[in-house]
Parts: sequence; C-alpha cells; structure tokens
Amino acid sequence: MAVLIAEETRCPACRSRAFRYQELLYDMPHFGNVLVETGYCSVCGYRLFDIEYADVGRPTRIIFAARDGEDVARSYLIRSKTGTVYSPDLGFSLEPALGGEPMIITVEGLLYRVADYAEKLKVLEPGSAQRVDEFIRRVYRAIESGGFTLVVEDPLGKSLIKPYRPESIRVEYL
Ligand SMILES: [Zn+2]
Repeated sequence: MAVLIAEETRCPACRSRAFRYQELLYDMPHFGNVLVETGYCSVCGYRLFDIEYADVGRPTRIIFAARDGEDVARSYLIRSKTGTVYSPDLGFSLEPALGGEPMIITVEGLLYRVADYAEKLKVLEPGSAQRVDEFIRRVYRAIESGGFTLVVEDPLGKSLIKPYRPESIRVEYL
C-alpha cells in the first residue's frame, strides 16, 4: 500500500480545518490498482469515502476463505457504505444499514468488532447469553486459526478484500 496524500485540510461540510484526508493506493490481486480516498472531520463528523478501479460500479461478490490465522491477521477488508459483509460458517451478517460506516480494517479487526457487538447484545438480551457466548468463542477460534469463509457483496462494487494470499479470494460479478 502506498500513501499518496495524508493531510489535515478544510472540511467540505463545515469549513473548519479539522478534516483528515488520505489517498491510498493498493495493488490488489484480481482488481489491479485501487485508489481509496478517505476523510474524517473531527468537528462535524463528516466522512468521505470513495474508491476507484477499473470495475467500480459493477455489482460484486467476493468470497474470501481464511485458511489460517495469518490470512485473518494480514488480509484487509475495504467496506463502503453499500457493502454487506457476512460469514455463513460463523453465522453473522453486517448489513449496510447497521453500522454502515465505511472502513478499512484487517479481517482480524473486523472479527473483534463482531465479537464486541455480540457482547453488547448479551447485555440487551440476557436470555440469549449462552448462545452468544458460544458464538463469541467460535469467533475467537476463527481469529486464531481461520477455517471460515467471509463474503462481501456490494451493488456498486465499492467494497473489496485485499487478501494476504491471492488464491484465498474468488470474485464474482453479479
Ligand atoms: Zn466538518
């Protein structure tokens, strides 16, 4: 990954000089050169996220198979506001409407977040605590040793996975 621009500049929404802007260039298996623009204003909370590559705009499904802990720790998810992320084996799904903010995160970081959400759910629904505990244990095992599938679907093709091993993803254009 190359950082092309990283600067604090004027916010397009509120005009204060608290807008952290970055342009990142990734060379990604299956996608080629991918340019990601992100920005966040610490005053008004305005967020910017955009992504450019040859196939952007095409409905995309990416299937990522994590073989081991290294795949989990070293593969990145780039998720736009329109991306749905789910794992049929682990049994979770993050819809665009739920916490749909754009993010660039390792698969490991994503799974820690999922475990955090589940932990909060337990407080809200004490009756399901045992089931949630089992789920969290499954997620921690997956972080340690892989052995699961993560699927990312995006109708605008703006969510991607940058795999540690190129052969661990499959891309389908829907
Ligand atoms: Zn602002």
